[in-house]
Amino acid sequence: MSYKAEYIWIDGTEPTALLRSKTKILADGAEPPVWGFDGSSTNQAQGHSSDRVLRPVLTCPDPIRGGANVLVLCEVEEINGDPHSSNSRALLRPIAEQFAAQESWFGIEQEYTFFKGSRPLGFPEGGFPAPQGPYYCGVGADAIFGREIVELHLDRCLAAGLAISGINAEVMPGQWEFQIGPASPLEVGDHMWLARWLLYRTAEEFGVEATLDAKPARGDWNGAGAHTNFSTRAMREGYDAIITACEALGEGDKPMEHITQYGQGIESRLTGAHETAPWNKYSYGVSDRGASVRIPWQVEVEKKGYIEDRRPNANVDPYVVARLMVNTCCSALEK
Ligand code: ADP
Ligand code: MN
Ligand code: MN
Ligand code: MN
Ligand code: MN
Repeated sequence: MSYKAEYIWIDGTEPTALLRSKTKILADGAEPPVWGFDGSSTNQAQGHSSDRVLRPVLTCPDPIRGGANVLVLCEVEEINGDPHSSNSRALLRPIAEQFAAQESWFGIEQEYTFFKGSRPLGFPEGGFPAPQGPYYCGVGADAIFGREIVELHLDRCLAAGLAISGINAEVMPGQWEFQIGPASPLEVGDHMWLARWLLYRTAEEFGVEATLDAKPARGDWNGAGAHTNFSTRAMREGYDAIITACEALGEGDKPMEHITQYGQGIESRLTGAHETAPWNKYSYGVSDRGASVRIPWQVEVEKKGYIEDRRPNANVDPYVVARLMVNTCCSALEK
């Protein structure tokens, strides 16, 4: 007897990487081994020396094929064992390790938009839907587009054992959100990438594309972000640490260091309108959805909890945002 292992990896497409996968048939009881692929077809190698290595880092049940079949998330390596330059997980590993004692948790809110052909799902052919208002957390066929896909995706994430913590319809028609977390830095990235793969794969069955484009519709329509909720043990226990983290994110070159790595097209989304802060001006505040970083109101009341960095784009690499936040906030908290 045998089973199917779907090897999933992040490619080298710039500025926003794509997901790739292929299937290996394994004998019952066999662990998914190191495997390889043609890096010249994924922007990860030149044709004359094209072999790249897939190193399994996380295996979970395959909720689509079911049975004993699995999904296998991989890091990409050079044939000499070095991490490939596109491998952002390898850059996160030492930072997560260095600050492990602070017990960082992340909850990332992944917003995304369904497209049918060239139009967001729910946008009428050759026109526009009614303005934003009834869509966010809405109900009814005039407000909601794609719920059958979203429900199936949620069930599949749960069956795969991912740390998905909720879903909601968003402000623009055809726009949705799911949340991963709270989870450790590496885990939130691993589960996010697997949840993204399951989203694309599920929408594919409906002839629909899911995109992480940060500004999928021009004009008076909300963009798509990946609000990143973050805490350390000290932040979960006291307010001084909350303020220290907020201040650290605003210090010196930190706002630019972060914003330039928070996903493609950040200026098109962080305009200062549509519940965003301008990309070039760092701010934080309690309950403030117009600030770069929000302290949720319960956190101010209870004087402990977490902060929400509202800047990352939907198309951010979760390994990158986790590395930056742990590095900036945990360094400051260590002092
Ligand atoms: P919003 O009110 O901004 O829409 P959501 O409910 O969509 O927030 O997402 C909040 C996320 O924050 C969830 O994924 C949740 O698991 C996560 N979260 C909750 N507590 C913490 C914490 N202490 N540290 C990090 N993340 C947390
Ligand atoms: Mn071949
Ligand atoms: Mn949310
Ligand atoms: Mn949202
Ligand atoms: Mn949020």
